[in-house]
Amino acid sequence: MSAPARLCILGATGSIGLQTLDIVRRHPQRFVADTLVANRNVESMLSLCREFAPRLAVLADADAATQLDAGLRRSGSDTRVVAGATALAESAAAADVDTVVAGIVGAAGLAANLAAARAGKRILLANKEALVMTGPLFMATVRDHGATLLPIDSEHNAVFQVLPEGRLVRGVRKVWLTCSGGPFRDLPELDLASVTPEQACKHPNWSMGRKISVDSATLMNKGLEVIEAHWLFGAPAADIEVVIHPQSIVHSMVEYDDGSILAQLGNPDMRTPIAHALAWPERIDAGVTPLDLIAMPALTFRPPDRARFPCLDLAYAALQQGGTAPAVLNAANEVAVAAFLERRLPFTGIPMLIEAVLAALALDPQPDLPAVLAADAAARECAAALLASGRWGESSSRNAGSGRTMG
Ligand code: NAD
Ligand code: MG
Repeated sequence: MSAPARLCILGATGSIGLQTLDIVRRHPQRFVADTLVANRNVESMLSLCREFAPRLAVLADADAATQLDAGLRRSGSDTRVVAGATALAESAAAADVDTVVAGIVGAAGLAANLAAARAGKRILLANKEALVMTGPLFMATVRDHGATLLPIDSEHNAVFQVLPEGRLVRGVRKVWLTCSGGPFRDLPELDLASVTPEQACKHPNWSMGRKISVDSATLMNKGLEVIEAHWLFGAPAADIEVVIHPQSIVHSMVEYDDGSILAQLGNPDMRTPIAHALAWPERIDAGVTPLDLIAMPALTFRPPDRARFPCLDLAYAALQQGGTAPAVLNAANEVAVAAFLERRLPFTGIPMLIEAVLAALALDPQPDLPAVLAADAAARECAAALLASGRWGESSSRNAGSGRTMG
């Protein structure tokens, strides 16, 4: 057997990171957790470092890193601890690492993902926000430096699996992204203006971090995934369709000109796409309960409610606009979701704030990396100012009804 793959797990303490480590635990001959990276969760990192004994542990937060270091020294660990954004990005490009699991949430993962691409690593991408921000730049960096990009977002992993060699070919008519519809899909009478963070984070089919759970409830997650699919596979926006599939068993589909639709099916468990990408092109056990075709629920499909969940069309529009529009959309969404989770913005204010920020900022049609980062910063500043002034709903075409201001 060949030498084990040496992994750098960005976002090791999160939902994606922990599920990746579950696969590592099942295949110790195949994978080594060389580097674990997180924000500031000392307790979780301590226990992961004790179990996996990584060469390197990286925390973004310096105080947390000091605590982690003290805890590890007390337990006689050899793991080296470093802190800060530069060390974090460097860890993804280190010579000791061959595979990088991009599992940080949001724009915070961008620098490390880019560093991994520049170093020609095999990158397993969950962190869709970073790709949304920098689509053309990131894909060019991957290409120019001979990196390998494998999607672990379940939909994109499914598309990858049903495309020949994971690439778009002539004769593909449509890419169909399935969407659970989130926790509010079957509650048409529910006043979305008054839903709470707890309700929004209770996803019917998947257990995920809080930010992506809110994105799933607003359908922004699917919007970001449309942009992600565009950059990963080169499909035009008009050929990427979203369909609500409440059972989350068909993880996505590709429709061909000859009338074939190829789908990937399985129980909703992220360990399937993670294990697929980790082992690719081989297959390994992921610890996932096999899908019982006889006992599974009937599979149903219906169109998304675009009026009730405007984030989906905001994302399509940003993709069509191109340039810095997706980065502005993403940054405004990150601020809006954080404000919603802190009860400073109602659920229905999320698309209004994003729309207001997109309307307020001039877009750069062909940004380089500094211009993308400047657009991200400007969008965050603009969103924060609109939130502080309470004027986040004013430029929106959807500001009718309750919930325009917080009570
Ligand atoms: P999570 O909130 O559970 O975990 C986030 C991880 O990122 C944590 O380890 C945290 O410490 C780390 N992190 C956050 N900010 C950081 C910073 N500034 N520096 C360093 N580390 C930082 O999130 P998640 O659900 O695991 O999602 C991670 C990414 O994967 C997101 O982009 C999400 O859209 C994507 N994704 C998740 C799932 C899922 O099932 N959870 C599915 C598909 C895609
Ligand atoms: Mg997904």
